Amino acid sequence: MVKVVKFGGSSLASAAQFKKVADIIHAEDSRRYIVPSAPGKRDSADTKVTDMLYECYGAAAKGKAYKHLLQSIKERYYEIINTLKLDLSLEKEFDVIEACFIGKAGRDYAASRGEYLNGIILANYLGYEFIDAAEVIFFDDNGKFDAKRTNKVLAERLSDIEKAVIPGFYGSMPNDTIKTFSRGGSDVTGSIVARAVKADLYENWTDVSGFLVGDPRIINDPKVITTITYKELRELSYMGAGVLHEDAIFPVRKEGIPINIKNTNKPEDAGTMIVESTSKKPEYTITGIAGKKGFTAVSIEKDMMNSELGFCRKVLEEFEKNGISIEHMPSGIDTMTVIVHQEEFEEKEQEILAGIHRNVSPDSIDIESDIALIAVVGRGMKSNRGTAGRIFAALAHAHVNVKMIDQGSSELNIIVGVSADDFDKAMNAIYDIFVKVQL
Ligand code: ASP
Repeated sequence: MVKVVKFGGSSLASAAQFKKVADIIHAEDSRRYIVPSAPGKRDSADTKVTDMLYECYGAAAKGKAYKHLLQSIKERYYEIINTLKLDLSLEKEFDVIEACFIGKAGRDYAASRGEYLNGIILANYLGYEFIDAAEVIFFDDNGKFDAKRTNKVLAERLSDIEKAVIPGFYGSMPNDTIKTFSRGGSDVTGSIVARAVKADLYENWTDVSGFLVGDPRIINDPKVITTITYKELRELSYMGAGVLHEDAIFPVRKEGIPINIKNTNKPEDAGTMIVESTSKKPEYTITGIAGKKGFTAVSIEKDMMNSELGFCRKVLEEFEKNGISIEHMPSGIDTMTVIVHQEEFEEKEQEILAGIHRNVSPDSIDIESDIALIAVVGRGMKSNRGTAGRIFAALAHAHVNVKMIDQGSSELNIIVGVSADDFDKAMNAIYDIFVKVQL
């Protein structure tokens, strides 16, 4: 059994957290390849080392005072090294980093040092080999992750290494400069490593006991999802449910490797299993609810629209020309509605409206902003009658007016659009009807 284990920033934010991490790793021999993040927040008022590095680099590269910022970064690492009584000095590393900051080595280089240094410390503490991610994770000339090359080199490199620490978040470009993934990208590194070693399981350790059925900032003490499929997760993540980086599922999915989200502070909790497919029924018909505010609905009306060939295309072309991507497109016989991101749309509004008028001469165009979209996601919907009925009954009871409905043909999700003011009420109503009131 081989497990790849990734620890997030809060799991490695201090010496006390490092001890928990070492206990977890030592508890199972199969936890062989470890991917650490940079030290994160120790409490809600704290700053992540990654953010400290961005700030320090910004100052140093502009020739402004930066030494005090570098000093506070050093202190974060020395607290860990000294408390754990490690025989390790990072002074030489810090000298190189300082010189590279002054020499404007780039923001990505700066940010990557958080994981790099944490990886050195963790490898020393565990007695594992340290592998610099720059030697095994590659991006192409366009800055796109090079999966083929990475997988080949990484698999070869790890084939005869029993146990190793590979820092998350970064890799290198063909010209040897450092490039990072987007924020939270250590999740992606963990997945890449899991694929390369054909791991049995990718454990992703964080500070919550798994994926929750709803957003805890809106729903009081939501339940944990025990098993979720990759597809369901995609739908929920897209709608803003965070925990795992959006791109982290692709590498493991290729090999059918499940991901287990676990809590470093409560290792006894089972967490959430993310799998390709499962015969396990979701506990509550729905698997999860997620939503986002900030959408605009543009409704175009024209008599006999339905029989006008190419009408939709001509309308959509105007959005495309202006670089606006479309979220949903519910339609009627004489109307079509295009749902877009409010902020993006506002900038191009007049160009798009003028274009639509020119292209299809509509009878009217109506614009409604401040719409929230809520995705109710669940593989259980397919085999259950009445899911939509329950959603809309719950919303009606809560006096929420539904502005838009969209159900994908895969019956994996139902998306409803409501006024942003009704967002919290609607999320709670849907959660309650499925989780609290079980039929
Ligand atoms: N340290 C990076 C960040 O803060 C990457 C990560 O933690 O995954 O985004």
